[in-house]
Amino acid sequence: MEKKQTEKLKERLTEIAYIASSVAVLNWDMETNMPPQGADARARSISHLSAVVHDKFVKINEDGLLTDLKRQVDEGVLSKNDTVIIRETWRSYERERKLPETFVKELSETVSRAQVVWASAREKSDFKLFLPWLEKIIKLKKQEAELIGFKNSPYDVSLDYHEPAMTAEKTSEVLNELKNFLIPFVAKIKNSKIKINPEILKGNFPIEKQIVFNKKVAQKIGFDFQSGRMDQSVHPFSTSFHPSDSRITTRYEKRDVLSSIGTTIHEVGHALYEQGLPAKHFGTPLAESVSYGIHESQSRLWENMIGKSFAFWQYFYPQLKKDFPTLFKNISLNEFYKTINCVRPSLIRVEADEVTYNLHIIMRFEIERDLIENKISAKDLPEIWNQKMKEYLGIKASNDKAGVLQDVHWSMGGVGYLPTYSLGNLYSAQFYNKMSKDIGNIDDQVRQGNFGEIINWLGKNIHSLGKTYTASNLVKKVTGEELNSKYFSDYLEKKYGEIYEI
Ligand code: ZN
Repeated sequence: MEKKQTEKLKERLTEIAYIASSVAVLNWDMETNMPPQGADARARSISHLSAVVHDKFVKINEDGLLTDLKRQVDEGVLSKNDTVIIRETWRSYERERKLPETFVKELSETVSRAQVVWASAREKSDFKLFLPWLEKIIKLKKQEAELIGFKNSPYDVSLDYHEPAMTAEKTSEVLNELKNFLIPFVAKIKNSKIKINPEILKGNFPIEKQIVFNKKVAQKIGFDFQSGRMDQSVHPFSTSFHPSDSRITTRYEKRDVLSSIGTTIHEVGHALYEQGLPAKHFGTPLAESVSYGIHESQSRLWENMIGKSFAFWQYFYPQLKKDFPTLFKNISLNEFYKTINCVRPSLIRVEADEVTYNLHIIMRFEIERDLIENKISAKDLPEIWNQKMKEYLGIKASNDKAGVLQDVHWSMGGVGYLPTYSLGNLYSAQFYNKMSKDIGNIDDQVRQGNFGEIINWLGKNIHSLGKTYTASNLVKKVTGEELNSKYFSDYLEKKYGEIYEI
């Protein structure tokens, strides 16, 4: 008997996934273990195999299999799961198909050179060096939008790559709401009589002991060491080769144990998602995460909403004190909790607290949207940057390095990436709210070190579904409401209202 068409497609997808998964292993090894002399050969291996993945994917429809299946989806004759697989494969395929090879090559060559220029411009703190490259990237991104096609804004195409089906309009709407809440809220915190000094938590924490503590935390909150590893790297990240093999990394700083703990919990949040994807669908969109924003909702829910809660530290603080008695013996839990949640406008996004962080993102979102929509030009960015910093956070960058050149995203061509961090925060608060309605008081469970029900809830409602729903449909299905900023604002208002007595 002839194999079913859907089975054929799944076979092709799975074959591609095995190669892509091997590329991920090579990348992980490069960041964690590879000796310096290995860099050149490794880059070539990765680029060769990535080309194989790309090539196989664009040929997936050579015999018209996908077109045929897409027609069956439109006729509504396939099962729900097969429909998801074909819908999502078609989406990616259409995108690839519409971009001519010459364009893809030009974009990838541009961004690989732009990253080198960006790094040196950043080092010299000189935006003018990077400007011609940024202009070229923006031009290519606009061209990409024309090639792929859009209804309202060319920026929709950039967003869609990271957050499928999300639009400039909807993102503007929710981030505007959030901005209108945040600017006066941050001002109130600044004027509060409560002053917090984060320096009291800095000390001398031997790395070996930090590793032990971080592994304890990761294990306790559900990271499965039988299906994952935790290592060190300069830039912390998480990656996954299969739901049965998920990798995370952390960076350790001798004087700041809280930095590695926050990073570990964040990456565990990502890894729990990957470990929770259904292995039986490996290779197909049913075993892939929904979007960058939904992925980030998982890491941020764990890192901030749970990992920086009072309840979390009611459980973990006694252990932290035991492992690092010198510094913490004189700091009460209450003082510790307030200090790890210190809010302070600062220049650098990656060092920002969970309140001001979103203003960093909102200004980047507005800038990249306006660039793609031709409302501003790249040469004016340092000035626009400073205006927004002043308006949103009340501070001014002293130079380009601490200002417009600080993020790698634009040089990588990652326009549409940055807003997913704040969308992740909004999703996380909306999910958290629904989760507490379903499983009862989350703090009560966390306080006792019980994370099982949380993991089960996230698994059932989000992880196990793969790409069944787009991000906005998932939010609607799980919470019964459209994506909005209310739950996140309420969360910040309650938590920081108490801490800062405002
Ligand atoms: Zn993340």
